[in-house]
Amino acid sequence: MAAPWRVAVVGGGIAGLAAAVRLRDRAPAGTEITVYEQSGALGGKLRTGELAGQAVEFGAESFLMRDPAGGESAAVALVRRLGLADRVVHPTVGQAALAVDGGLRPIPGGTLVGVPGDLAAVATVARPATDADRDAGRPLLGPDDDVAVGALVRARLGDEVVDRLVDPMLGGVYAGRADNLSLNTTMPALARAARVEHTLVGAVRAAQAAAPRAPGAPVFGTLAGGLGTLVEAAATASGATIRRDAAVRELIPTGAGWRLTVGPTRDVEHVDVDAVVLAVPARPAARLLAGVAPEVAAAVGGLDYASVALVTLALPEPALPALSGFLVPATEGLLIKASTFFTTKWGHLRRPDGLALVRASVGRYGDEAQLQRPDEDLAATVHRELSAVLGTPLPAPVAAHVQRWGGSLPQYAPGHLDRVASARAALRAGHPTLALAGAAYDGVGIPVCVRSGATAADEIITALGGSGT
Ligand SMILES: Cc1cc2nc3c(=O)[nH]c(=O)nc-3n(C[C@H](O)[C@H](O)[C@H](O)COP(=O)(O)OP(=O)(O)OC[C@H]3O[C@@H](n4cnc5c(N)ncnc54)[C@H](O)[C@@H]3O)c2cc1C
Repeated sequence: MAAPWRVAVVGGGIAGLAAAVRLRDRAPAGTEITVYEQSGALGGKLRTGELAGQAVEFGAESFLMRDPAGGESAAVALVRRLGLADRVVHPTVGQAALAVDGGLRPIPGGTLVGVPGDLAAVATVARPATDADRDAGRPLLGPDDDVAVGALVRARLGDEVVDRLVDPMLGGVYAGRADNLSLNTTMPALARAARVEHTLVGAVRAAQAAAPRAPGAPVFGTLAGGLGTLVEAAATASGATIRRDAAVRELIPTGAGWRLTVGPTRDVEHVDVDAVVLAVPARPAARLLAGVAPEVAAAVGGLDYASVALVTLALPEPALPALSGFLVPATEGLLIKASTFFTTKWGHLRRPDGLALVRASVGRYGDEAQLQRPDEDLAATVHRELSAVLGTPLPAPVAAHVQRWGGSLPQYAPGHLDRVASARAALRAGHPTLALAGAAYDGVGIPVCVRSGATAADEIITALGGSGT
């Protein structure tokens, strides 16, 4: 179609911003890109704040450096594209622990999100079943199968490996339970290997061999100055018009494109565009899709979310072990599900005055009632539980911050990726100038969200008749 194209990106999280950058890079010159963000700030779950005079993440903290399929992750590629590569920093302390049986034990290395490729390596934390992971003469999974991670690992390696290792590691990311989460979505490399290998241990080894990690190569990175830098740089590089406090309330297909209803009812605005990247969580996406493609809306809206709160304490010279933090299995009965010793883990955050920033994540899927407690109560409980896990009373915090993330972490049930593929196929057939992006679809991590934003932008470019290159 004739330029200039007008493209709306709905949602100013990292997926929407990555889409906007890709559109700027690949759509014809002069394309008008507008990012609509309902809140007053861009970034979504990326939110850099400040505590005790220190920039600190109140949302996502870091990104994977490598793509699970090999090569650099999409987050690293975006960082490089934005000229921020020299700001990437890596953890100075990588070893984390598990809080089990009232103490801290180092998380065994060499696992895939806790699933061992060597049973002896996890013996310090869990006793795997030794006789269940037998070769039955066929691959663990059929070509179209998906299962809950917990179901597969329990059947092959027993309950302890799930409850004491896999569940806390998945819970650290999803605040959900291994028994509910889709293998295909949360552990795609293992799922691929499980379609070939006949044992789970064999599948872990095959997945690891398929994407070997260079010895010493850092797994995680973040940006000195905070991930807010990434958000700002992406917004700038996209050259998009950024509309904050601008909720999109309705999407109406017009034949030639889309009419957006933007803003509050008392001050409503209608905007006509040629194409839309919808980069919002599942519930708002389903609301916007309801009048466009009801079956797609129903499929998208069926995704459930967990809520968490992040409690950050500034502690004067506490005695902390040389660990990046710890994870807590649900079986331990603590409110804390994970804790990060920010100023130990990240050298660039260390302070000459010895003030330590410790963050704890509280809240698990299905246990939202705990998050109803007031901020002071959550902070006091975190302080008490940290002292108990560390086995030493911690000094009183000089500052504390509680960030609540209600309904923020997708709980991908088995079959999720198939439902997403069907939803996208239906949209492509009926409304090719509307593309879906973000954590509701392809996975939760920043790199996956970046890639899904870029892919959505490519789809729009193709649909509008551009080259996409
Ligand atoms: C507490 C927490 C910690 C995390 N830590 C990490 C981590 O360390 N590493 C990692 O890789 N991942 C982490 N994640 C996951 C990752 O941050 C998210 O999955 C990712 O940032 C989601 O990006 P997104 O753009 O898909 O969605 P979001 O960040 O949710 O952005 C969507 C945006 O859309 C806006 N919006 C919604 N409805 C409308 C509307 N109608 N109109 C306009 N705008 C609308 C929202 O306000 C929001 O800004 C974490 C997530 C959470 C919750």
